[in-house]
Parts: sequence; C-alpha cells; structure tokens
Amino acid sequence: MSHIVITGGAGFAGSHIVDEVCRAYPDDRVLILDKMTYAGDVRNVSHHVFSNRAQLMVGDVADLDVCRRAVQGARLVIHAAAESHVDNSFGNSLEFTRTNVVGTHSLMEACRQQGVQRIVHVSTDEVYGEVHSGSVDEHTVLRPTNPYSSSKAAAEMILRGYVQSYHLPIVTVRANNLFGSRQFPEKIIPRFICHMLLERPLPLHGNGQNRRHYLSAIDFAKAVVFVCEKGQEGEVYNIGTTDEFTNLQVAEMIAAHFGPLRSELFEFVPDRPFNDARYAISWERLSSMGWTPTRHLHSELPALIAWYRAHLARYVELFGVEALDRACPEFPTV
Ligand code: NAD
Repeated sequence: MSHIVITGGAGFAGSHIVDEVCRAYPDDRVLILDKMTYAGDVRNVSHHVFSNRAQLMVGDVADLDVCRRAVQGARLVIHAAAESHVDNSFGNSLEFTRTNVVGTHSLMEACRQQGVQRIVHVSTDEVYGEVHSGSVDEHTVLRPTNPYSSSKAAAEMILRGYVQSYHLPIVTVRANNLFGSRQFPEKIIPRFICHMLLERPLPLHGNGQNRRHYLSAIDFAKAVVFVCEKGQEGEVYNIGTTDEFTNLQVAEMIAAHFGPLRSELFEFVPDRPFNDARYAISWERLSSMGWTPTRHLHSELPALIAWYRAHLARYVELFGVEALDRACPEFPTV
C-alpha cells in the first residue's frame, strides 16, 4: 500500500488537508509528520488516527533522517509544517528560519534521495509583500516584509533550486489568510472569537485598517488536493477568495454575533514593527483550471463560533485564560 505524507498535519491547515486527502484517496495510508509544537494538537486528527486511517509520526522536518524515514516509499508529500505566526517571528525569527527554510530544505533533500514523484508545498500570499491596489499573479516578484514571510519566500527559493537542478516534481501553492475550526487562537479570527467568549476586549493592531482576504480552510484543502491532481510540476498556484476585510471589520463582524456593538469591545494596541497594509492575489490561473472557493466568512461564522464555544476549554485548559494575552508578550497579537 502506498502512502501520502502530510507534514504539519496536526496543525490547523494541515489537519484540514488530512481530512480532504483521507476523503479523496481512500486507498492510501496517510502519514502525518509533525513536531507537535504548541500549534499542533492530536485532537485535530484523532478521528483519523484512532480509526487507523492516518498515522502520526512525531518528528522535526529540519531533521534529514526523520524526513528520509517519513518519505521513503511515499507517492505524494504535502508540506504544510511551518512556524506560522507573524507576531512570534519578530521575537523568534531564527526558529522560523530553522523550521521554514532548513526544514523545507531537509524535506526536499529527503524527497530527492527517496525519489518521491509528487510534492505539494504550502506557501502563503504574504511572500508577495504589500499589495496596495489590485492583485498580483504568480509571476510577481516576491517582496516579503517580515521574518515569517521572508522565511517562506526563502523556502520557495530552495524549492526553485531543486526544481531546476534535480527536476524534483514540486508544485507550490500560495494561499490567502485561512479561517476555520482548529486554528490556534493567536490568529485574528479564533482570537477574537475566544476573547468574545471570555468577555474580553478585542485587541486591534494600530488603527485596525490593515486588510486581509479570508479563505475557508476547507476550500483551501480542496484546492490543495485539486493541485495534487492537476498542478504542473515546477509551477505555482495562488489560492484565493474575494472576501476582503479590515481587521476592524472582522472584529465588528464577530462581535455582532454576541450582541450590540459597543466601543469598549475594541482595544487599539501598538502595531507590529511592520504590518503589511494589504495582501491581494489573483487566482485566475486556478479558476481557469476549474477550482473556485465556495464558502464565505460571513455565512460560516455562526458555525465557527459554535465550534470555539464547544472547544474553548481545550485552549483555556492548556494555557489558562491569560494565555490569550501572553501568546506574544512583546508584540500584542492580532
Ligand atoms: P499552524 O501553526 O496551525 O500549524 C503548523 C503545524 O506545523 C503544527 O502542527 C506544528 O506542530 C507543525 N510544525 C511546526 N514546526 C515543525 C517542525 N519543525 N517539524 C514538523 N512539524 C512542525 O499553521 P497553519 O496556519 O496551519 O499553517 C500551515 C501552513 O499553511 C504553513 O506552511 C503556513 O505558512 C501556510 N499558510 C497558512 C495560512 C493561514 O492563514 N493559517 C495562510 C496561508 C498559508
């Protein structure tokens, strides 16, 4: 029986990819390679692990030996493991380079040595840097602006070397901000939902006017599987949505589910050292191949709030109520 490796599969986006891969490829065994950092949680994938549909291998993608063992005999490798939170990257940037750059390099080297025939690398729209108007396509020069996005762009340069030099069959996807269940409440949407559930104010960076697009993690996972099937080796595909909001609009949208809006609900906190005003990608390439997003933040919010209400103890138990403020002490997080 062949197997599919999903790195970072116990995290937020990775676990949605695991769901979709298990559904799309019932004949493959799934191996999740995950270091189980604070962002990984076995409960994100326990439904697959306990039913023997997937296996969890606890290990570091920056360890070549671990990567070699994981990918040996794999027919497909999906690489989603990363240090993913921009705020943390300002204080701990070397860890981001270790996991996101050295980790990606180690994994690609292992894939090369083991002759893996299909690799999908998960990247981000943040590698393009700020986009003040319109949107950018896959040919746009990468201009990352913070240690997280720089490490993701650096990883892509490593991939490019492996594609050109070794013809390693890699397809890269660059996605918008994602929303959905299981996202660690350091990111804006789960953080604001948890704050509302705990009756705490919603911390907004700067003036709250930074803009982001928000794509459903389920739509994203479907796009990843779509690209596994239809993507061309060595190519890049943006995965996006038209749903664009300022941070303040996101805060208001969430708060509105809990009652009338009051100014005390919003707390303006110091901005990041650098905070991209806006990201915007064109996913025309993927839509011309037949993929399109189907879910919208607005209509998904009630179910998402219900999910966090049901699972709030998971985060409070682990870290205590105060943890939502401590997640990044140096740079108040959004
Ligand atoms: P996450 O922080 O929720 O999960 C990351 C997972 O990777 C965790 O399970 C963690 O334990 C694991 N991990 C971290 N370091 C590791 C290491 N050295 N070795 C093995 N496993 C390790 O992140 P996420 O938000 O799910 O992001 C997943 C991927 O999607 C990342 O590559 C990220 O850049 C990309 N992405 C995320 C978003 C988003 O909005 N969340 C948007 C675009 C792209």
